[in-house]
Amino acid sequence: MQLRPPCSTSLRQRLSVGLGTMLVPFLLLAGGALISFESAIDSFKKQENIGLEELFPLARTEGLLLDISGVVASGTETSEVDAVAAFKKLSDHINHNLTFILDRPSQLSERDESIDRIREEWKELEDLGLTILQPKVQADSKNRTSQILDFQEKIQNILQNVQELNYRLIAFQNAENLRQAEIVRGRVRVLVAIIFLMALTIAVICAYALSRSILVPLHQLQTGVTHLGEGNFKYRIRLRAQDEFAHLATTFNSMAKSLEQSQQDLERLATLDGLTEVYNRREFNRWLSVEVERSKRDSLPVSLIMVDIDHFKQLNDQYGHQVGDEALCLVAHLLRNEVRPGDIVSRYGGEEFAIILPKATINDSATVAHRIRREIAIQPIRISVDDRIHLTASLGLASFPDDGATEEDLLRRADQALYQAKKMGRNQVCLAAEILRSNPEL
Ligand code: GH3
Ligand code: MG
Ligand code: MG
Repeated sequence: MQLRPPCSTSLRQRLSVGLGTMLVPFLLLAGGALISFESAIDSFKKQENIGLEELFPLARTEGLLLDISGVVASGTETSEVDAVAAFKKLSDHINHNLTFILDRPSQLSERDESIDRIREEWKELEDLGLTILQPKVQADSKNRTSQILDFQEKIQNILQNVQELNYRLIAFQNAENLRQAEIVRGRVRVLVAIIFLMALTIAVICAYALSRSILVPLHQLQTGVTHLGEGNFKYRIRLRAQDEFAHLATTFNSMAKSLEQSQQDLERLATLDGLTEVYNRREFNRWLSVEVERSKRDSLPVSLIMVDIDHFKQLNDQYGHQVGDEALCLVAHLLRNEVRPGDIVSRYGGEEFAIILPKATINDSATVAHRIRREIAIQPIRISVDDRIHLTASLGLASFPDDGATEEDLLRRADQALYQAKKMGRNQVCLAAEILRSNPEL
């Protein structure tokens, strides 16, 4: 048998698609995790930049304040022009940094206030510093010393405020980073949960679909094999799919068909006569037993006709065995035509036939027997193109239960009636009851 090419819904493809689909959630998990971590890192970086943009000018301001404190402290030792220039330069930087911080949107809600306070304090200090560095102030050293002390005290105050703001910003930065980490953790948790549920659903659906598409046809194949094992060669597997299983089912069906055909051939050989194709003697015996039992059970009659061709040996001797065989086939055909469909025609042996007529009384079967005798006598047998001969047959009849209560009795009585028909000159029908009447000892 020719193998069918694998079709679009083959088992192999279904397995590949099913297993491939189960991998999808893992790919989604990997992609989702990557995106989450990337966005988390971006968010940390952003926070870091924002922090640096605020922290750096603050740190710078702190340094500048220390520098300017030095300038004021050493103002008497350097030239007043240099000191004022240095002071102004540092002062500009400080102003610039404070303005920069103030202009930026801050992360801290209270920062404006503290920067404004620092700025105000610085304004006062800037004026004081310039005053200290004025030449006329320098002349009054007592006043100048107290102003320097005042300046130093105030600058310490500002520095303290700057540092406090610095610490608050760092603390806020840390808290913000922690908050971002928590958000990312939450997102990853939700993502993992969704993807886990998705993976579970896909796995369950795929496993169910795959197992159904494998187990159902497997079960059907198994059922088919069981039927075959039990000798039911008529069973066929019907699969709607067009895959490897369908191919197996087709192979199975054609195997079952061959077996069914072989079984039918064997049955024919075992039950039919090879030449005439009516039942053989063994099948006749089986049917006679069945019908006698049935008749006993149902209290119904069953009749038996024995048919023997007259002088058949002469036909063989004169025209050859082949003509004899053709004559046997013709008589068998004729017998089949003359009886009802339920009657059982068989070749009892040689040129002898037996007919079982279920439910037929002796009168019913006598009518049939006379018709058969007449038809055999009428039917010509062609010997050659021009030559035709006619055969005759003798028939013996017996009926259950009148002529015999068992199949052996029935056979014996029908055979005696046939013998009587031969004795009476052949081409006759003889009833077992008639012999009994003429010879009561039988
Ligand atoms: P009677 O009228 O007494 O029945 O005589 P008969 O010649 O018919 O009976 P007999 O028993 O003497 O001969 C039967 C013959 O049938 C002998 C045998 O060669 C022939 N015969 C048996 N079976 C076959 C068969 O299958 N084919 C052919 N051609 N002849 C067969
Ligand atoms: Mg005979
Ligand atoms: Mg004969």
